Amino acid sequence: MTGDTLAAARERMVAQQIEDRGVTEPLVLAALRSVPREAFVPEAERPYAYEDHPLPIGAGQTISQPYIVALTTAALGLVGGERVLEIGAGSGYAAAVLAQIAAEVHSVERLAVLATQARANLARAGVTNVQVHEGDGTLGWPAAAPYDAIAVTAAGPQVPDALKAQLRPGGRLVMPVGEQHGHQELCRWTRDAQGREHVETLCGVRFVPLLGEQGFAG
Ligand code: SAH
Repeated sequence: MTGDTLAAARERMVAQQIEDRGVTEPLVLAALRSVPREAFVPEAERPYAYEDHPLPIGAGQTISQPYIVALTTAALGLVGGERVLEIGAGSGYAAAVLAQIAAEVHSVERLAVLATQARANLARAGVTNVQVHEGDGTLGWPAAAPYDAIAVTAAGPQVPDALKAQLRPGGRLVMPVGEQHGHQELCRWTRDAQGREHVETLCGVRFVPLLGEQGFAG
């Protein structure tokens, strides 16, 4: 596909898959419009980069469906300038979208091969405010805590305590919670200034498992 065709496919994706389904936050739509998703998928998947589903990225993992990336980003309520933590860098695409709005994104990936690939994809897309770290993201990334917002892009049995501890009061955490191979729901977890926890469910989803000390055993 030529650059023009890809740009047109991206515009169509934002209009039909995101806006028409009710995600209308201008910053989120602008972020989705500005990240070249084709830079984050393997060569063989490029013709399908803007289709309405996840795609394989190697190592048995997937780049999330564009709508789910948009919904997660919107639920984080970013206004600009934040420090954000992502767990599950995968291709680096969701981190790139978050980085269009936030000042700084830290993304943790447990598989070295994907962390390396995510860094290369982000560089190819010209994104400079994402740091990809290799490690067990169920333990967060304490070195840069606290975070204004945390996005977990793999499904776990519950929100890891380590992530709750690294979210600043008033911050938002979005994560798929449920069974490893069954029912999962995208949840938004928040803690208010008084320390009270709130959980809302956004929709049913299907994510690859969050594997680690405070996730699934594998
Ligand atoms: N945000 C990614 C989606 C990747 S799929 C994208 O936009 O492409 C989820 C990723 O979570 C996989 O790459 C998987 O290896 C990773 N993952 C699973 N458990 C993890 C853990 N405990 N810590 C960090 N990454 C993890």
